Amino acid sequence: MQPFFKELNSIQGLVCEENVSLAPLTTMKVGGRARLFLTPLTITALERLLYVIHQQGICYKVLGNGSNIIVEDGGVGVVLNLSLLNKIQPSDKDRVYVEAGCTLSTFLKWCICNGFSGLEPLAGIPGSFGGAIFMNAGANGVSIGDFIDELYITTSTGSFWVKVSNDFFGYRKSYIPTDGLISAAKLRLCQQREEAHSNNNKKDALWLCDGSRIRNNLKKIMKKRLSSQPLGHPSAGCIFKNPSPDCSAWSLIAACGLQGFRLRDAQVSPKHANFIVNLGHATSNDVLDLIKLVKERVWEGTGVALKEEVVVWHHEKDVY
Ligand SMILES: Cc1cc2nc3c(=O)[nH]c(=O)nc-3n(C[C@H](O)[C@H](O)[C@H](O)COP(=O)(O)OP(=O)(O)OC[C@H]3O[C@@H](n4cnc5c(N)ncnc54)[C@H](O)[C@@H]3O)c2cc1C
Repeated sequence: MQPFFKELNSIQGLVCEENVSLAPLTTMKVGGRARLFLTPLTITALERLLYVIHQQGICYKVLGNGSNIIVEDGGVGVVLNLSLLNKIQPSDKDRVYVEAGCTLSTFLKWCICNGFSGLEPLAGIPGSFGGAIFMNAGANGVSIGDFIDELYITTSTGSFWVKVSNDFFGYRKSYIPTDGLISAAKLRLCQQREEAHSNNNKKDALWLCDGSRIRNNLKKIMKKRLSSQPLGHPSAGCIFKNPSPDCSAWSLIAACGLQGFRLRDAQVSPKHANFIVNLGHATSNDVLDLIKLVKERVWEGTGVALKEEVVVWHHEKDVY
């Protein structure tokens, strides 16, 4: 593997670390280490990195803000950390360029400072832009995909812009090219609310608005979130997808009497049955065992097969 390391060390703007613990980098606070943890400082470094990884035939995983993943205790191989690709820049007069590692909360602060409304319903989702777009994160009837005009996709052969059409996003999923990752996005900006909702391709836009109104909207949304979600304990948000728009996963779990059910230090939250919380010393195994148990009980009790919304990073050994 010497040539691989030599190639990595020759990439300008790339930080390479070994045996990095992933638990502190996820909101669930469980899981093992990454044998190799690679942080590009620029998109050019990311392009070069993907080229080298591809040449060596090495598998990798992409880490956003770690708020929707559960890493197995045995750890994984190569992880690309995009958190330092986090620029926000107005572009082409009516759009804003946001890099994948920028968190939704940082972008919402930019929206307040610059007076753009529209994304407040997503306040409190603890993801990065890249992770939110990949998962098509959403809340309160709004999804991030509604606002994305173009995506910058990086692959081992370079980067390119993709115009996003309406069928690019589904419920908690996106259809990005399998050999690429999201390195940035452009969102549409406009002067007025009416204009924001009346464009040809049915995409929404952020519209100019008074900063204090945006702040008030944010307060209301955060109040609602605090009253309904167990934000005092580590979690990965909703564990399961809703089986359909009129059947919520939490109601099925609650109907099976599992709300508050505890397995070692992993617990089905008494406050929101679709959250599993880490009461302090849960391992990834505890959380995954509890997920399995919930699925089995809900299947037996209701005949519905729940599907995970969270992404599980399975243990990888001897990856390079
Ligand atoms: C308390 C709490 C509340 C939550 N509330 C909500 C909610 O209301 N609505 C909702 O939808 N979700 C919610 N979530 C889940 C989570 O925050 C979102 O799914 C979020 O968008 C994930 O973003 P991330 O950056 O943390 O991604 P990560 O967890 O780091 O990664 C998730 C997946 O995206 C992939 N990925 C990350 N970045 C990229 C990239 N740049 N290119 C390609 N793939 C990438 C990863 O490889 C992984 O497969 C909540 C989570 C928590 C902990």
